[in-house]
Amino acid sequence: MRILLKALVIWALFSCTLHAQEGADWTQPFPPHRVIGNIYYVGSEGLASYLITTPQGNILINSSLEKSVPLIRQSIEKLGFKFSDTRILLISHAHWDHCAGSAALKELTGAKYMVMDADVPEIEAGGKGNFQYGDNPASRYQPAKVDRVLHDGDEVRLGGTVLVAHLTPGHTKGTTTWTMKAKENEKTYDVVIIGSPNVNAGYKLVNNPLYPTIAEDYARMFQVLKSLPADVFLGAHGNYYGLDQKYAQLKQGGANPFIDPEGYQAYVAAKEQEFRQELAKQTAAAQAAGK
Ligand SMILES: [Zn+2]
Repeated sequence: MRILLKALVIWALFSCTLHAQEGADWTQPFPPHRVIGNIYYVGSEGLASYLITTPQGNILINSSLEKSVPLIRQSIEKLGFKFSDTRILLISHAHWDHCAGSAALKELTGAKYMVMDADVPEIEAGGKGNFQYGDNPASRYQPAKVDRVLHDGDEVRLGGTVLVAHLTPGHTKGTTTWTMKAKENEKTYDVVIIGSPNVNAGYKLVNNPLYPTIAEDYARMFQVLKSLPADVFLGAHGNYYGLDQKYAQLKQGGANPFIDPEGYQAYVAAKEQEFRQELAKQTAAAQAAGK
């Protein structure tokens, strides 16, 4: 019993530090660059932020960590745009690594913050109430007021650009996948920015009292991702879509490497398989435990 208890304590400590820890590359600067059309990458090595420029001001997706804000600002200015032209702030989902900087960013730019309905309570409570990390102080962030509550399929419009908010829940209850059209060389492309398909370490997919519909939500999310027309494949972290390799290719010139419909389909299929395997494992364990 004592040994079991000790093991539990060690596990709890370990899992807490794990969640509290920053990814080593989260604050590592990354060269800002144009992705396609009016979409620019202004994130770090590990945390993706996108600037969508329009004649009526700009849209930023993901404020990332509080300390990411100055990095994002530098990236925007390096590209020749004004940080203060940021009119609208959007996020991939209500986890601190994508939204902790939102309060500061709103304060500095006056941008309107628009968030998917199911993620709004957490955003406004600074991360409190998250089904997985709610009690962990390390996952908390400065609460930010949401100016517009989005619902599945809502459009965010600015200066001729239209972004569509797709509810793709599971990873958080309001995880949002953004789609838009981008023009390059007289052609129009469908862009998808995946909110997150990941089942994090410790996520309970079976008998989860804090998120009873989690498994159905993941399944629904994969249906949505598979149904979206996708030419340009982007996501909340650069490693979803192979940012490093694609940026290296971009610098070499030639075809735009971010146009990658096959890569998108393959990524979504692999992530769905990972989810199905984890669900099967947890279902078997629950059955063995007689629940
Ligand atoms: Zn997350």
